[in-house]
Amino acid sequence: MGQITLEKVSKTFGDVEVIPPLDLTIENGEFTVFVGPSGCGKSTLLRLIAGLEDMSSGTLKIDGQDATHVPPAKRGLAMVFQSYALYPHMSVRKNIAFPMRMAGVDKAEQDRRIEQAAAALNLTDYLERRPGQLSGGQRQRVAIGRAIVREPEAFLFDEPLSNLDAALRVGMRLEISELHKRLETTMIYVTHDQVEAMTMADKIVVLRAGHIEQVGSPLELYHKPRNSFVAGFIGSPK
Ligand code: ADP
Ligand code: MG
Repeated sequence: MGQITLEKVSKTFGDVEVIPPLDLTIENGEFTVFVGPSGCGKSTLLRLIAGLEDMSSGTLKIDGQDATHVPPAKRGLAMVFQSYALYPHMSVRKNIAFPMRMAGVDKAEQDRRIEQAAAALNLTDYLERRPGQLSGGQRQRVAIGRAIVREPEAFLFDEPLSNLDAALRVGMRLEISELHKRLETTMIYVTHDQVEAMTMADKIVVLRAGHIEQVGSPLELYHKPRNSFVAGFIGSPK
């Protein structure tokens, strides 16, 4: 579970083709990073997978099933944004519970998942606080907690750390990597930060103007960049 396949997926806004037809398979359990300069289409690609944008053409499959026309809430994917989008008037507990309430998960099961997520994210002592009483890193953890309790097939992260200062960012990177190891769930992580890509990814997808320039492990991209764009972007010696 958690395999995501794009077949000839494209996206056009007006008459601008932001994503030309593209093929990509993300394997179950893989930590895949989409990396590329600002404006290259990373967020658009993630939103197409999430169903927050309609594809202009092509087919999206989740675990081999056509999901092209499946509404976002039914895709089994959980998205974490850089703006945490927490409800300021609700406690951390209620923020994390919110998607489960919407999905009709019973109260005892909600509590079980909240306790588990809070323990994993070091939020146990903060469950009764409001988001305004938390640090940026803690708020981002709450946003991740809200994704975890949905027990998704895959997590989609869109530059989740870019609002954090550099020191916090390093810690959160490690936490997300740990979470991936523990849950073994597919994660797609969008960033324009090469260091994040190189340190976190099983597989990196290098994007440029909506095209895939290269797909490979951090080591493959470093040692065998396909062209000077990839080499320059990844910082390899070629
Ligand atoms: P990235 O996340 O890599 O910075 P985006 O996916 O946000 O890039 O954007 C890719 C391109 O698509 C940009 O040129 C952007 O201006 C354009 N774009 C994104 N969303 C829209 C939209 N809703 N309408 C028109 N153009 C858009
Ligand atoms: Mg973006």
